[in-house]
Amino acid sequence: MAAIAEPQKMNLNGYVGFDSITSQIEKKLLKRGFQFNVIVVGQTGLGKSTLINTIFAAHLIDSKGRTSAEEPFRQTTEIQTVSHLIEENGIRLRLNIVDTPGYGDQVNNENCWEPIIKYIKDQHSAYLRKELTAMRERYIQDTRIHCCLFFISPTGHALKPIDLVVLKKLSEVVNVVPVIAKSDSLTMEERIAFKHRIKSELGFHNIKLYPYDSDELDDNERALNDRIKQTIPFAIVGSEKNVVIDGKSVRGRRNRWGVINVENENHCEFVHLRDFLTRTHLQDLIETTAQIHYEAFRSKQLLALKETSSKQHEQQQQQQSQTVQPQVGPGGPVI
Ligand code: GDP
Ligand code: MG
Repeated sequence: MAAIAEPQKMNLNGYVGFDSITSQIEKKLLKRGFQFNVIVVGQTGLGKSTLINTIFAAHLIDSKGRTSAEEPFRQTTEIQTVSHLIEENGIRLRLNIVDTPGYGDQVNNENCWEPIIKYIKDQHSAYLRKELTAMRERYIQDTRIHCCLFFISPTGHALKPIDLVVLKKLSEVVNVVPVIAKSDSLTMEERIAFKHRIKSELGFHNIKLYPYDSDELDDNERALNDRIKQTIPFAIVGSEKNVVIDGKSVRGRRNRWGVINVENENHCEFVHLRDFLTRTHLQDLIETTAQIHYEAFRSKQLLALKETSSKQHEQQQQQQSQTVQPQVGPGGPVI
């Protein structure tokens, strides 16, 4: 095949109009809407439901944490999904929130992450199956998890061994964003020391979290990602209730020592987390899921498929050659 020469830059003599392609794309995308799937992982009562409702400023999932000591712990990690359509300035976002109540609640938490990992892989597998069907749908309904919010208990000491195991497993299949839950229960000094500790543990165990390094980033994007990496894990406070501070009603919590304004950067890092998830990295979380996590799953599956089919092919050929092989008898070959 002849090589195609490098294109030469030409000047136009008049207005052609292909600069409208961005608005054509926008129109199509707007019609279709967007899909964002998030999973929350962490012990019951750490404020998972509350945080989701705080981020998206709507009551999307019920807060039904174990609020009293008499209430029994859940026995298994049951996966529950709720789906909502939210809209902002004409942009429609379909939000799937996957709740994993029961994770880490047991005395023996061995393998409690398995249903979560399985759920994430199952979504990849369902997507791959739909992609491989002959009559492929034009738009495959995407249930792949774009972001996993991992809730760290505000103990102020260190990550639990189970957390390290689970973080490692999760980070291999999904974009993980860890948060220090209910950080209002720690003083500023405790928070800083805890964060420091967590960071060094993550480094020590070689746990690679989102956002990942990439050659495609420009200087601004790289600087933003560096700031985010420094902030991670986000020390957050969630609240669905409003409190009045200086005559203004804000989302916050009132405790024995005073009032916390969830959206005040001096009080906690909620705003950093929300901006990261919704204002700067929403599209990148979706893209990274497809290009890194799903791609890894897909190539592994397809390679395995190829291997089994070539083995089957070999076996078939062997069987055929055994049956077809001319048998040499005393009177010459017998077929
Ligand atoms: P989940 O079981 O992890 O979903 O936890 P919930 O969202 O149901 O919250 C359990 C309890 O913790 C509720 O009473 C919440 O009001 C409370 N809570 C949620 N977030 C925070 C927080 O950031 N700080 C404090 N102090 N309490 C919180
Ligand atoms: Mg909950």
